[in-house]
Amino acid sequence: MLTYPEALERLCSAALPVDEVRRLPLAAAAGRVLAEAQVATVNVPPLDNSAMDGYALRLADVPAPGVCLPVSQRIPAGSVGQPLEPGSAARIFTGAPVPPGADAVVMQERCEPCAAGVLIQHQPRAGENIRRAGEDMAAGREVLPAGVLLRPQELAVAAAAGLAELPVRRRLRVALFCTGDELHLPGQPLPPGGIYNSNQFALQALLEGLGCEVRNLGLVPDALDATRAALREAARGNDLILTSGGVSVGEEDHVKPAVEAEGSLDLWKIAIKPGKPLAFGQVRSATGQAWFVGLPGNPVSSFVTFLMLVRPFIRKLQGLASSAPVSYLLPAGFTWEKDSSLHEFLRARRNGAGQLELHGHQGSGVLTSLIHSEGLVLKPPHALIQPGDPVEFFPFTELLA
Ligand code: AMP
Ligand code: MG
Repeated sequence: MLTYPEALERLCSAALPVDEVRRLPLAAAAGRVLAEAQVATVNVPPLDNSAMDGYALRLADVPAPGVCLPVSQRIPAGSVGQPLEPGSAARIFTGAPVPPGADAVVMQERCEPCAAGVLIQHQPRAGENIRRAGEDMAAGREVLPAGVLLRPQELAVAAAAGLAELPVRRRLRVALFCTGDELHLPGQPLPPGGIYNSNQFALQALLEGLGCEVRNLGLVPDALDATRAALREAARGNDLILTSGGVSVGEEDHVKPAVEAEGSLDLWKIAIKPGKPLAFGQVRSATGQAWFVGLPGNPVSSFVTFLMLVRPFIRKLQGLASSAPVSYLLPAGFTWEKDSSLHEFLRARRNGAGQLELHGHQGSGVLTSLIHSEGLVLKPPHALIQPGDPVEFFPFTELLA
């Protein structure tokens, strides 16, 4: 049996990023992975500028509050003023360049009209309300490293840095199918012995949430030839084939022999719960090979193993520099006394006191537990847990981001 960290390490060390890179305009780059580090083309801000609507002045002209200064110029955002005449103030607006000679901006709320111009009711500090040129980004310096996910904030940084296009990696192409003769699509009548196929919808949405292009091949019958044919079809033009069901070693489980016939396969027994069997391998195609990951059929098992194992693998294939799931330490609101050698992922939510409480039904088929919990607690092998003990918690908000 592999431990969870060993399985994760094996998957991630096998994954090489897709190597096709294309330049996309910023507006089309959201959710993609940056292929090369980016450098600012300008200082941000480009010039010293005002953080407030107010008056730019020389400190030397305001030795104490209560000085009345004439207003020698007006500088709205988008224009550049003249050097500040000594003994005067410049009316200035947020984002406008601070005129040469001024060394502070007093916000307008601390000023009043006076006969000669403006009464400064506040003694400014040097640099007050001035945003310095380059304080956010310096021209020529790296602002985005390779391998980051382009979230809204990365796009904003790129735009401010003057970058109109970004080199991104090609989207990962993933083929998906489910096995199981008991499965039917919702919308169809359910015959005796049938159940509705839920994994197909969870997995497709999980893959799309990660920015993959998904080719959904639907249901494949529990038969060796049909499974082999589906694998050949799935391998065509795709980077990864993801399946659910049929990876145990029962006589109705055809995924293992099918992958072995069409490529190569390791069937892993991972010391985790839920999700013990996981198949990992490759399927040959005319142009090369596609990765293969076969998830267990139990709906919670396939969901959890996707999040804890397949998601990091996909992130690595996509070219992301950091792919490990994000977790936080939170206090347990439960007792765990059963000694087990497994890494267990327990569905949990925070109570009013900020402690984690376990969902009452931890069975690997209890799908509703996934919507009544906020994430997964990781119980390490042989851990005994008392209320108040810190435990590792993987929130769905992070896992599904
Ligand atoms: P298997 O891994 O094929 O042995 O399936 C394990 C359990 O998960 C069985 O109870 C299946 O009926 C169920 N199952 C398999 N595939 C799906 C699916 N796509 N949607 C919902 N349940 C499934
Ligand atoms: Mg099955």
